[in-house]
Amino acid sequence: SERSDQLSMFRKSGIYRFENSNAVFIDAVRVLNRSYSRFRVSPSAYYSRFFESKNLNEKSRASTNSRKRKRKEKKTHTLNEREQVADKRHQEARPLLLKAHEFLLGATDLLATMRNLRSDGCSLGECTDSFSQRVEQSFVELGSIWQAPLYEITLNFHHHKPNEGGGSPLAQHSEERVIPIFNNLVVNETTDDVVAEFLNRQYVIPRDCSFYMSDLGQIHNLIPADSDHGFNLIVVDPPWENSSVHQKLKYPTLPNRYFLSLPIKKLTHTEGALVALWVTNREKLRGFVEKELFVKWGVKYVATFYWLKVKADGSLISELDIFHHRPYECLLLGYCHGEVMDCKHFSRFKSMQDNQVVISIPGDYSRKPPLGELLLEYVPGLKPARCIELFAREMIAGWTSWGNEPLHFQEATHFLTR
Ligand code: SAM
Repeated sequence: SERSDQLSMFRKSGIYRFENSNAVFIDAVRVLNRSYSRFRVSPSAYYSRFFESKNLNEKSRASTNSRKRKRKEKKTHTLNEREQVADKRHQEARPLLLKAHEFLLGATDLLATMRNLRSDGCSLGECTDSFSQRVEQSFVELGSIWQAPLYEITLNFHHHKPNEGGGSPLAQHSEERVIPIFNNLVVNETTDDVVAEFLNRQYVIPRDCSFYMSDLGQIHNLIPADSDHGFNLIVVDPPWENSSVHQKLKYPTLPNRYFLSLPIKKLTHTEGALVALWVTNREKLRGFVEKELFVKWGVKYVATFYWLKVKADGSLISELDIFHHRPYECLLLGYCHGEVMDCKHFSRFKSMQDNQVVISIPGDYSRKPPLGELLLEYVPGLKPARCIELFAREMIAGWTSWGNEPLHFQEATHFLTR
C-alpha cells in the first residue's frame, strides 16, 4: 500500500512525506547518516531529550512549569502592539501546524517507528545515558585565547590506491596531516570519513567537506577569489540574543547589528544562492530581518518553512498557544543574486511552495534538523550545489561549515561504528 511504501522509503532516507500535504517528518539521525561510510550517528546521543522513558522527574517538572505558565497567561492579558503582530503571525501559522500534526497522528505506522528512534539499531550497551555526563571541549574558549594559532589538529587519512604492480588490487597507505585548527580551512577532500585528533579527543570528519573555525571577525577569509567558486545554498543560524539562562550557558550570543555585516552577497555564487535563515519567534527579531537584514544582505524573501517539534510519542513538545514558548521555529527563505548578477534575474529562480512544515524530534539544545536535502530542489546553479552553513556546530558531506565551534557535534562520542 502507499503507506508501507512511505515507511520503507523513510527507513532508507529518514524523510517521510505525508500524501497530499505540505508536511514531512524527518529522522535527523537517518538523514545525517548519509554523510558517513564507516560511522553512524548514535541515536541515543542525538535524541538526548523528548523520549519519555528517560527521566520521569524531568517530565513532572515540565508539566508543573506549563501549569505555572498557564496561570500566568491568564493573569496578564492585554497584548501590546508588538505582541498583537506576533499573535497575528501565530494565528496564521496555527491551522497549517495543526493540519501537519494531524497527518503525523494519522500515520500510525510512522508513530510506532518514532518511539524507537532513540534505540534504533543499537545494542543495549550503546544506548545508555552515560553520554550526557561528559564534559565537552570548549572551542569557543580555546579559539579566543592568545595561544589559539598554536593549536593543531591531526587528520588521519587512509588512502586506497589501485596497486600498479599487480598483486593485491588495493594497497592502503596512511597519511597524517597536522594543521592549524583555528582560522584555517580544514579539508577532507577524500570520499571516506576521516578521524581527526585534537587534545586527546577524536572527531569524525565526513567525506568531501571542510570547516573553518573562527570568530565572526575572520569570516571574510571564506569569500572566494572569484564568484564562480561562491555558494548556491547558504544556511544561517545566528546566535540571536534571548533571555533564556540555559542558552547563555551553551554558547555566546551577538547583538543583531553584527549580522548585518555578514558578507552574504560576497559568498554567493555567480548563479545566485538560496539563503535559509533560522529565526526565533521574537517579533522584534522578525521585524529586523524583514526590514533591515534581508535588505542589507541583498536577499529577496520568498517563503517560510516551519519546524514543528514533537516528542517521541508524537505529541507537541509544548502547547501550541503558550505565548512565549512555541513548539515551532521558522526558517525564512530568500534568493540572493550575488555581486555580478542583475536583480532582473530574480525571475530565473524557481518559485517555492510557501508554508511547508517539517516535523521532527529535537536533538540537543538549539540543534536544528538537517534540512539541506529538502531545500536542494530550490537551489540555483549547477549540481552538485556548493553549500555552506554559517554558525555551524556540525559538518555534512559536501558542505563547508563555518562558526566558532563547527566540530562540536563531530566528537567521536556522538558516533557509533557501522
Ligand atoms: N545551527 C547550529 C546547530 O544546529 O547546532 C546551532 C547554531 S547556534 C544558534 C549559534 C552558534 O554561533 C553557536 O555555536 C555559537 O558559539 C556561535 N557563535 C557565537 N558567537 C560567535 C562569533 N562571534 N563568531 C562565530 N560564531 C559565533
